[in-house]
Amino acid sequence: MKTIGILTSGGDAPGMNAAIRAVVRSAIYYGCKVYGINRGYKGLIESDLVEMNLSSVGDIIHRGGTILKSSRCEEFRTEEGRQKAVKILKKYGIDCLVVIGGDGSFNGAQKLSDLGFPAIGIPGTIDNDLAYTDYTIGFDTTLNTIVDAISKIRDTSSSHERVNIVEVMGRHCGDLALYAGLAGGAETIIVPEIDYKIEDICLRLETTKKRGKRHSIIVLAEGVGNASDIGKEIVERTGVDLRVTVLGHVQRGGSPTVSDRLLASRLGVRAVELLLDGQSARVVGIRDDKIIDMEIHEALTMKKDFDKQSYQMAQILSI
Ligand code: ATP
Repeated sequence: MKTIGILTSGGDAPGMNAAIRAVVRSAIYYGCKVYGINRGYKGLIESDLVEMNLSSVGDIIHRGGTILKSSRCEEFRTEEGRQKAVKILKKYGIDCLVVIGGDGSFNGAQKLSDLGFPAIGIPGTIDNDLAYTDYTIGFDTTLNTIVDAISKIRDTSSSHERVNIVEVMGRHCGDLALYAGLAGGAETIIVPEIDYKIEDICLRLETTKKRGKRHSIIVLAEGVGNASDIGKEIVERTGVDLRVTVLGHVQRGGSPTVSDRLLASRLGVRAVELLLDGQSARVVGIRDDKIIDMEIHEALTMKKDFDKQSYQMAQILSI
C-alpha cells in the first residue's frame, strides 16, 4: 500500500478542491493512504500534515479556493529547505507527492524528484500560462467571472456612453484578456504578447464614435501596464468619458464551472494512476480533450503560442 501526499501551491484557483477530492478519493479507492499537506511547501517544511479520508473531501467539489490552503515558500527554493521537506515526508511514511499549482510549483516538484522523491504535478492556475496543456484548472471559472463583470460594466457603459477599461489578471499570458474580451464583445483587447499603440486605440475610439457608437470596452491584461495610466493617456488624447475597473482578486474566487470540475477530476485520477504506476517527475494535462502526461522539465521548456487567430477574429468582430 502506497502513502500519497498532496498539496496546493502558488496562486489559488477555482477547481483545486475538485482536484484534491479526485486525488484523495481515487487514491483511497486504489487502497492508498493519503496525507493532506497544508499551505503548500511552507506547510510541508513546517510539518503541517493531516491524514485524509473519504469524508475529508466531502462537500468540496463546488467550493472555490483550496481546503489545503496555499502559499509561496522561499525556503523551499533552497537545497536545505527541500532536504528538510523530504525528511518530513519520510517521517510520515509518504512515498510520493501530488503537487497542484503552476510552473513555480512544478519546478519544486521536479527538484523533489531530483532528490529521488517521486512527484507528479497537476496544473492549477487561473492564467492558463502552461504551454503543454490546452487548459489549466481555474481558467474557465475565471473567464466566466470576467465575462460576467464585463457584461455588467457594458450595461452602465452603454447607459452613460462611456469608455471602460477592465483590467484583468495575466502578467505574461494574455489568455484571460483575449478569451474574456472575445466572449464579452470588447472593442479592444490589450495583451502582453502583442505590441499595442495608444494612437491605434484612440483612432478606433474616434472612428466608432463617428458612426454613432459612444461606448466601448477595453480589456487590458495586467502585465501590459497600469490601467489608470493608460486610461489617462486616452482621455488626454481623445477627451472621452472613461472609467477604469480593476477586477483584482474577485477573479480568483467562486464556485468552479462544470468544465473546471470535470478537468480537475480527470487530472486528479490520472495523477494517482501515474504514481501507482511508479512514475515520477511528470505533469498531467489535457490536449485535444485527451488527458496526457509528460516530463516536468519538458513541459516547462515548452513555449506557449499566443492564439493570434482568435485575436484577429476579436478585431474583426469589434469593427
Ligand atoms: P501561479 O502560476 O499561480 O503563480 P506558481 O506555482 O507558478 O503558481 P510560484 O510562486 O512561482 O507559483 O511557486 C510556488 C512555490 O513553488 C514557491 O513559493 C516555491 O516554494 C516553489 N518554487 C517555485 N520555483 C521553484 C524552484 N525553481 N525551485 C524550487 N521551488 C520552487
